[in-house]
Amino acid sequence: MAAQTVLVVEDEDAIAEAVRARLRSEGYHVVVASDGPEALRRHAETRPDLVVLDLMLPGMDGLEVCTRIQRNGWTPVLMLTAKTEEADKVAGFAVGADDYLTKPFSLRELSVRVQAILRRRERIESSSNGEPIEHEGLIVDAKRRRVEVDGSEIPLTPLEFEILLTLAREPGVVLSRDQLMDRIWGYRDHAGGRVVDSHVARLRRKIGEDGNDPRFIRTVHGVGYAFKE
Ligand code: CA
Repeated sequence: MAAQTVLVVEDEDAIAEAVRARLRSEGYHVVVASDGPEALRRHAETRPDLVVLDLMLPGMDGLEVCTRIQRNGWTPVLMLTAKTEEADKVAGFAVGADDYLTKPFSLRELSVRVQAILRRRERIESSSNGEPIEHEGLIVDAKRRRVEVDGSEIPLTPLEFEILLTLAREPGVVLSRDQLMDRIWGYRDHAGGRVVDSHVARLRRKIGEDGNDPRFIRTVHGVGYAFKE
């Protein structure tokens, strides 16, 4: 199998070099860009399997880069952020980032995340079994990776699709945030569930849910989520 390509976008040379060395030693093909425009060029040239993207970049910030990358087909993005404000993380998910790491991070932690995201990508691309699931106007078609609500197709990111499919396959079963992280993200995070909550919130908006009277996804407070029976 050809080496998987990771695009690393980071303007701090020391971090870029450390990340490059680590990922190379693990067998990835690594391409580095130090600003937004270069990141977009490299992305178009190399079609990477994953982008490790610093949030704070000169010129064009990471959110803008992420938005533009997602316009040309989906690429998983691991966002690096020096800020700790929750708002920045949530903003990252709103533009299609899969996950984030807060600086300073360990290279081991980075490599765990990278592996988990790439495994998930493979799983997403290979899991195409099962009849479409239908519930009250919602259709989740795993084979064609399509979601419809009341006859209209809803564009979801692959991660949002995975969350919906995972819940819809087991109606009535409450899945905790930890279980969802295990099954979908492939690891657990000490930040516990924040990532899950913001992706679920975004998924819900897309499928037209009102948090107070959800049609499809029930929140079990303090625990997690369940698809309605
Ligand atoms: Ca930076």
